[in-house]
Amino acid sequence: MSKMTPINIRSFKQKARYKKRSFRRFLTKLEKKAPRGMEALAAKMDKEVWKEIDCLTCANCCKTMTPTFTPADLKRISAHFGQTVDEFKTKWLYKERGSGDWMNKKEPCQFLNLKDNKCSIYAIRPADCAGFPHLPKKMKDFAHVHKQNVEYCPATFRMVEKLMAAIIPAS
Ligand code: SF4
Ligand code: SF4
Repeated sequence: MSKMTPINIRSFKQKARYKKRSFRRFLTKLEKKAPRGMEALAAKMDKEVWKEIDCLTCANCCKTMTPTFTPADLKRISAHFGQTVDEFKTKWLYKERGSGDWMNKKEPCQFLNLKDNKCSIYAIRPADCAGFPHLPKKMKDFAHVHKQNVEYCPATFRMVEKLMAAIIPAS
C-alpha cells in the first residue's frame, strides 16, 4: 500500500537531474503516439500519485515557477484586495514579451505562506494554479507541459515514472 512521505526537494532535484532526459524522451514518444488506453491509465496513475504526494510538504511550484494570470483571475484577485486590475498588475506582475501573458515578478509567489506552504488566496487562486500539474489531462495536449515540469514537480515526476513502468514492459 502506498504511503505519503514528506517531499525532500534536494533529493528530488538530484533524481530529476539524472532522469529528466529519459523522461522527456518517453513523453515525446507518448506525444507522437500514445498507446491504446492511455487516458484511462493516466487517470489511474493520477489517483495513485496523490496517495503518495503531499503538496503541503513541497510547494516547489509556488516557490520556483509563476502562474499566468488570465483576465478573469486578474479581476477576481484584484477585487479581493480592493485594487483595480492595473494597481494589482503594477504591484505584483509583469507582462511577458512574446506571449503577452501576465506573470509574477517575484518567486516565491507573494501569496505563498512560507511557514506552512499554504496559498493565502487558495479559494480565488489563478486557474493555472488550480489546474496544476495537469496530470489527468490529455497527454497529447499536456506532454510538453510535463516535459518542463518533471524537473520541478515531484508529482509530475512520479506520474511519468509510473507511466514508464506500466508502458515500457508492455510495448
Ligand atoms: S497564487 Fe497560490 S497556488 Fe498560485 S503560485 Fe501563488 S501561492 Fe501558489
Ligand atoms: S504540484 Fe508538484 S511542485 Fe506543486 S506542490 Fe504539488 S508536488 Fe510540489
